[in-house]
Amino acid sequence: MSASEVRALFAVASRPDVVSLAGGMPFVQALPTEDVLEVVRSVIEDDAAQALQYCGGAGLPGVRRAVAGLMAEEGVTASPDEVIITNGGQQALDLVGKIFIDPGDAVVVEAPAYVGALSAFSAYQPRFVQIAMDDEGLVIEELEAALARSERPKFLYTVPNFSNPAGVTLSLERRHRLVELCRGAGLPIVEDNPYGMLRFEGEPLPCLRTLDPSNVIYLGTVSKVFAPGVRVGWVLAEPGVLTRLTLAKEAADLCSSSLTQLVAERYLESERWRVNLRHLIDVYGSRRDAMLAALGEHAPAGTTWTQPQGGFYVWVSLPPGIDAAALLPAAVERKVAYVPGTAFYPDGRGRDSMRLSFSYPPVEAIREGVARLGRVLTEAAKADAGNAPVVPVERAGSRPSG
Ligand code: PMP
Repeated sequence: MSASEVRALFAVASRPDVVSLAGGMPFVQALPTEDVLEVVRSVIEDDAAQALQYCGGAGLPGVRRAVAGLMAEEGVTASPDEVIITNGGQQALDLVGKIFIDPGDAVVVEAPAYVGALSAFSAYQPRFVQIAMDDEGLVIEELEAALARSERPKFLYTVPNFSNPAGVTLSLERRHRLVELCRGAGLPIVEDNPYGMLRFEGEPLPCLRTLDPSNVIYLGTVSKVFAPGVRVGWVLAEPGVLTRLTLAKEAADLCSSSLTQLVAERYLESERWRVNLRHLIDVYGSRRDAMLAALGEHAPAGTTWTQPQGGFYVWVSLPPGIDAAALLPAAVERKVAYVPGTAFYPDGRGRDSMRLSFSYPPVEAIREGVARLGRVLTEAAKADAGNAPVVPVERAGSRPSG
């Protein structure tokens, strides 16, 4: 589809009668308004002069301290000097692309990969090397083979916890193997971890940054544990990389908003964030449960999906012959929207899959949305069976796989 077709489709998809399982918006309505109001008011009352002023490109010292404190909750040791504040994690991705990538450089990403990272890096014209994932995250043998083939990539980008879009988590054993392999190959890892604190079940696993601080550039954000509207993200990296990132950040926008940095700092200091985060985890966890149960009830035979232990997303693999991109207009017509898998592969793969997000619609809407989707998929599966060309068995393998 062209960009204008996609825009038109999503304009329809945002109608109130359409259940959108497409966007991955945090459910900010779950935050108590009085907590937010108190934080914003206290920032202005206590230090309007700082809140309304520019600040250094690396960010305000207080919020860098608060971020270092938050990192400790994830088991990562960080000093405030190792942190720079960015305009959300998204700006961090852009700055990483800007300082590392020259046109034609190889960059290793997971398959499927976060579409926002692909578009941020694409501006610097890399050649993407995509590494498959399974239920335990990146397949290390594939990475080994790619490194043996490819000229030195500039970095590897991964979302190890509850990935966007696949909803899978890199296993402990693979975390160790990944950091070892990358250290040996001189390949820096960019670890993007917006969802790590949104775990519904199971034990937290160590961050890659914890396992190898010298070779891992860590990207964080308050978007999913607080609110994306404050646009506070950060990078944790070694001094040489931080200096270059800070220069790139200053060239891009001088500094992040002092006002929202102070809001983020106060919120993280308030301790209310812990209570609110537990509530968010309950909300998202029950929505995940509703989505998985509804898929079990309504998805046609041959459909499989991931079982996320946290985060926002479920990745659905479709029975052979169903094309998620081609089916989207029909789904929207039936009042349900999703993101076709093609968005997450730079090379056009992914027609046989889709990303569903459970973060925003309430449980009832998720049940209804997945039921509608199930009907659309079931009809498409029947139509495909009816239309299947009669081909000799030996030729069947030459059909495009997706
Ligand atoms: N990384 C990943 C994997 C994401 O899913 C997102 C948000 N969708 C971001 C980074 C950027 O988020 P933000 O800019 O709001 O911090």
